[in-house]
Amino acid sequence: MLDIKNLQVYYGVIAAVRGIDMHIDRNHIVTLIGSNGAGKTSTLSAIVNAVKKSGEVLFDGKDISKMPTHRIVREGIALVPEGRRVFINLTVDENLRMGAFNNTENFERLRTEMYERFPRLKSKVDQKAGTLSGGEQQMLAIARALMSEPRMLMLDEPSLGLAPKIVGEVFEIITELKERITILLVEQNAFAALKIADYGYVLENGSISLKGPASQLLGNDEVRQKYLGG
Ligand code: ATP
Repeated sequence: MLDIKNLQVYYGVIAAVRGIDMHIDRNHIVTLIGSNGAGKTSTLSAIVNAVKKSGEVLFDGKDISKMPTHRIVREGIALVPEGRRVFINLTVDENLRMGAFNNTENFERLRTEMYERFPRLKSKVDQKAGTLSGGEQQMLAIARALMSEPRMLMLDEPSLGLAPKIVGEVFEIITELKERITILLVEQNAFAALKIADYGYVLENGSISLKGPASQLLGNDEVRQKYLGG
C-alpha cells in the first residue's frame, strides 16, 4: 500500500531523516517507534509532503512524492498530528464537519458512523472541543481525520499525555479501524504500539536501526533495553 524509498529530510544542515525505506501492507498496523528527536514526526510530514524532502513515496503504486499535501489527502491519506490540534473554539459536530470538507456529500452518513464508533463524543456534539478531556480530544482528532474516508491513517503519538486507561481505549479504537484502514502509528509508547501492530520499525537518529514483525520486536533484547524499560 505504501512504499517509501530512500526518504531524507533536512532542516538546513540538520539531517532529521537519513535515507529510510519502509513498506506498509494494506490493512496492517505498522508502528514507527523511537526516542525524542529520532525523526518520527519528520517522516510523517515528509509522506504528506509538508516538509522539504528527497526520496520516493508510492501510495498504491502511485508516486505521490511531489504532490501537494491537499492532493495527497484526496488520494486517501489522513494525518492525526501530534498534540491532537482539534479546533478548540468549534463544537464536536463542527470539528467533524471540518474533517469532511472534501467529502461533504457523505457527511451525514459518516457523522452517524463516528458517533457509533466514538460513543464518548455522542453526548457532547454541541460542546466546544477545547472543553473536552485530553482523551476525548484525541478521539475527536481521529474521528475528524476519518471524515475524509482515508484508505490510510497516520497517527502521531496518539497516547501522548493521556491516562493509561484512556490510552487503552484509544488503542482499542485503532485496532478496530484496521479492518478497513491501513495504519501508520508513530509512538514513544513502544510497548502499547508493538502490542497492537503487525510490523514495526525502530528509528534512531534518522535511520532505521531495526525492523520486523511486532511480536518479534517485543521480544528483542535491544528493543527491551532501550524502549521497553528492560
Ligand atoms: P518527538 O517525539 O520529540 O516529536 P521525533 O522523533 O518526532 O521526536 P522529529 O520531530 O522528526 O523527531 O525531529 C527530528 C530532528 O529534526 C530533531 O533533531 C529536531 O530537533 C529536528 N527538527 C524537527 N523539526 C525541525 C524544524 N522545523 N527545524 C529544524 N529542526 C527540526
